[in-house]
Amino acid sequence: MYDIVIIGAGIIGTSIARELSRYEAKILVLEKDNDIANATTMANSAVVHAGYDPVPGTKKAKLNVKGNQMYPQICKELDVPFRKVGSITLALTDEDVKTLDELEEQAHANNVPVRRIGREEILAREPNVSKEVREGLFAPTAGIVGPWELAIAYMENAVQNGVELALNSKVENIEKKDTGFKITTSQGSCEAKVIINCSGTHADELNSMIGGGAYIIKPRAGQYFVLDKRVGNLVNSVIFPCPSREGKGVLVVPTVHGNTLLGPTSTQIRDREGDETTKEGLDFVRKQVDRIVGNIPFDQVIRSFAGVRASSDREDFIIEEAKDCPGFINIAGIDSPGLTAAPAIALEAEQMVKGILKNLLPNKSFNPNRKRVIRFEELSVEEKENLIRENPQYGNIICRCEKITEGEIVDAIHRPGGATTVKGIKKRVRPGMGRCQGGFCEPKVVEILARETGKRMDDILYNDPGSNILIGRTKE
Ligand SMILES: Cc1cc2nc3c(=O)[nH]c(=O)nc-3n(C[C@H](O)[C@H](O)[C@H](O)COP(=O)(O)OP(=O)(O)OC[C@H]3O[C@@H](n4cnc5c(N)ncnc54)[C@H](O)[C@@H]3O)c2cc1C
Repeated sequence: MYDIVIIGAGIIGTSIARELSRYEAKILVLEKDNDIANATTMANSAVVHAGYDPVPGTKKAKLNVKGNQMYPQICKELDVPFRKVGSITLALTDEDVKTLDELEEQAHANNVPVRRIGREEILAREPNVSKEVREGLFAPTAGIVGPWELAIAYMENAVQNGVELALNSKVENIEKKDTGFKITTSQGSCEAKVIINCSGTHADELNSMIGGGAYIIKPRAGQYFVLDKRVGNLVNSVIFPCPSREGKGVLVVPTVHGNTLLGPTSTQIRDREGDETTKEGLDFVRKQVDRIVGNIPFDQVIRSFAGVRASSDREDFIIEEAKDCPGFINIAGIDSPGLTAAPAIALEAEQMVKGILKNLLPNKSFNPNRKRVIRFEELSVEEKENLIRENPQYGNIICRCEKITEGEIVDAIHRPGGATTVKGIKKRVRPGMGRCQGGFCEPKVVEILARETGKRMDDILYNDPGSNILIGRTKE
């Protein structure tokens, strides 16, 4: 029997798994997809919010601020890209100036450092922002991160510290037993003393398996454009419009890898995994960002994508043991700022588990540091030369856009919880994330994956089952 089974390997499930790997406990993470972070954690704005937006007194406010403070240390331990670039919320109208007053008050109530800045300072910091701007609210503690890279790193570190990961394992039924639970998955069954439900947009379905009916998930989609790195510093910090009842509005965000994100929309949808973009949605993004930043080179868009928020009917994060079902912990309704709050949510989950499993002992061999990742492009010429001498695979550039070597791809496959698909490689080391979107490197990545995993090339998937890239040989 497992002490703890965590359902879902998004940023929430993986951060909790890593936190709990500090204890001597038998822990399993069950994930229905074939990779870590393939759902909401893969498709969001990647902003580590400062924390002035959530309503004071809510879990969102408390955990946003605490999570934000934890980011620098966590990203250092896990070797994940993170930059504290700050954010500016822009006021373009009289109405917006009033909203800035309210946000400033909220910032003080949430203990978030902010500063009002005038038009001149805004335009000096951000020359591409609309000349209509009147004032701004600058939040120096806001940052940007690689969201799925962080989830993958959390999971890798958890596995290093003894946690088990089962991919392709969809939880189909949960039965309450005298002691603990029986969990039936698409791969078999297992038992657990404690279940932590971190299944994102599916959380209410899992909760209803144990008879809990305390909340419903109301999925809300957000669509984006990604601009090529060539565009350079269109903005230096995260640029927000004034928020409205629908959310934080359409942002312009620099990414940790040098691209620019434009989005998201916010529309209620039925499909919990609805990741399609629409002309209507993208036209809306275009119109909205044009209001706050000028000169956006839309001819440099290299991709559009959509993500789904697991918003709930409760409007705040749900972090609680299910009523009438002790041992079943819901971590649900984790919409924005869930990415930011994840490290702090993991601490809440840790406290709840310690309250249930009273005799947890520390894992004496816990190591908070993930095995270092080699990012070839970031090395000095001398380091590159030495590395290639040691391992010639680092001398073979596979992705020309992002300058990714064969050595990095092979490493991404063989790490704990490593990549098994083309998208898995793309998420970990970025071939296919650049201007050509995989046009040149994808066949090479398929070849390397097949070689390293002992599969046939036509069995290699882009992502989901059925997404095979090759269908057979034209010449034997
Ligand atoms: C458009 C958009 C913009 C956002 N921007 C930001 C932002 O800038 N900053 C911020 O802090 N937050 C942001 N968020 C919120 C943030 O992305 C989420 O809070 C966070 O990713 C949620 O992580 P999760 O682990 O709960 O969910 P997910 O990443 O969805 O993970 C849930 C996992 O559970 C798995 N699962 C589901 N059902 C089952 C089952 N039956 N069996 C096994 N596994 C199952 C899924 O496959 C999935 O991998 C944004 C969200 C969206 C959609």
